Amino acid sequence: MQGISARATELDRGDPLASFRDRFTLAEGLLYLDGNSLGRLPKETIRRIRQVVEHEWASELVLGWDHWLDTGLRIGDSLAPLIGANPGEVAVCDQTSINLYKLASAAMDATGRPNIVTDAGNFPSDRYVLASVAERSGGELILAPEDGTVSDLAPLINDTTALVSLSHVSYRSGTLADGAAITQLAHDGGAMMLWDLAHSAGSVPVHLSAWDADMAVGCTYKYLNAGPGAPGFLYVRRDLHDTLTQPITGWFGHRDQFGFTASWQPAPDIRRFLVGTPPIVSMVGVEVGVAISAEAGIDEIRRKSIELTSLFIEGVAPLAEHGVEIVTPMEGARRGSHVTLRHADGVQITAALRSAGVIPDFRAPDLIRFGFAPLYTSYQEVARAVGILTELIETGSYRSFDERRGRVT
Ligand SMILES: *Cc1c(COP(=O)(O)O)cnc(C)c1O
Repeated sequence: MQGISARATELDRGDPLASFRDRFTLAEGLLYLDGNSLGRLPKETIRRIRQVVEHEWASELVLGWDHWLDTGLRIGDSLAPLIGANPGEVAVCDQTSINLYKLASAAMDATGRPNIVTDAGNFPSDRYVLASVAERSGGELILAPEDGTVSDLAPLINDTTALVSLSHVSYRSGTLADGAAITQLAHDGGAMMLWDLAHSAGSVPVHLSAWDADMAVGCTYKYLNAGPGAPGFLYVRRDLHDTLTQPITGWFGHRDQFGFTASWQPAPDIRRFLVGTPPIVSMVGVEVGVAISAEAGIDEIRRKSIELTSLFIEGVAPLAEHGVEIVTPMEGARRGSHVTLRHADGVQITAALRSAGVIPDFRAPDLIRFGFAPLYTSYQEVARAVGILTELIETGSYRSFDERRGRVT
């Protein structure tokens, strides 16, 4: 323990991203390790939202749409380099679940095949939406084992497969998928590839163009710190813009939005994947969050993320003798930015941690996730969290906490 604490001090001292912590509002007394679920609030977001509400909305009213209209495309262009995409290929719009529905449906129409392949550990909303889309095409959702690798997936992909859709970083184990190899595998089988970047955007470099990925979706309120419920994003590779169409044919996707014509005609570019009026106030959070991540640089963020998660893993390893299993891959290159521990008393341990001011989250039935956000998590915080967790597990003090999980975990 002593060793980790001393090293944390050392690492903080040499941290090139240390100054970014001051750009965020730090909730008093909270050792926050849940930035993988909801990122912290950038101070700049407070200032910019005030400005948009008090000046743009208040005084421009509907005239504001002259410059608000393309907000989602403009922020999409800023986000593109963080995920290895080109300008014009990314739009910030709707929620991740909705974007997934739109793009998965587009793939079914484009390939004319009935089935979708994902893995059993994919996020529930993804599994539910993909199952619904496949069933509507007369097919089914086929599940590879959790954290499916190329060899798990290969036997499941054939000429009935329209789409392979996976999370790049697993929300459960934090396992990082091989983007290039799996995309290639899908294409070899004549299927399209749709990545969910919810836990990757702003934490792990993604190379959508280099992988030749067809489509992607993701969240902005996690590592991009855009705020609760902030809109998600979608990516569609440029050469597919002419042919893919999506089922929610709203006016923002129309080639002549203000022509008010009788029927829907898709816009010739990424706009065809938009639906309706964007939430301009929430968009401000996305704009600021993306700008901060871009300024820090995704490679620097990744370097620190691996250091943070390595320090935590090293610190909790001795808890194995108390039944704590590290679910996340030990090899830095194979994981994202959270570390998941499994323990039979996970509900109580999570409750005890929260009562001690440490905020991880819990994923039923027995997983505790600790998220490390390189822009604001310090190495000292990692060392302190390890100390508190060790204490409450070694003493068994967590056992006095309620065994029932709350509604939000
Ligand atoms: C967080 C998360 C989502 C959330 O989707 P919403 O539509 O924003 O609620 C979807 N997929 C994955 C993989 C996630 O981790």
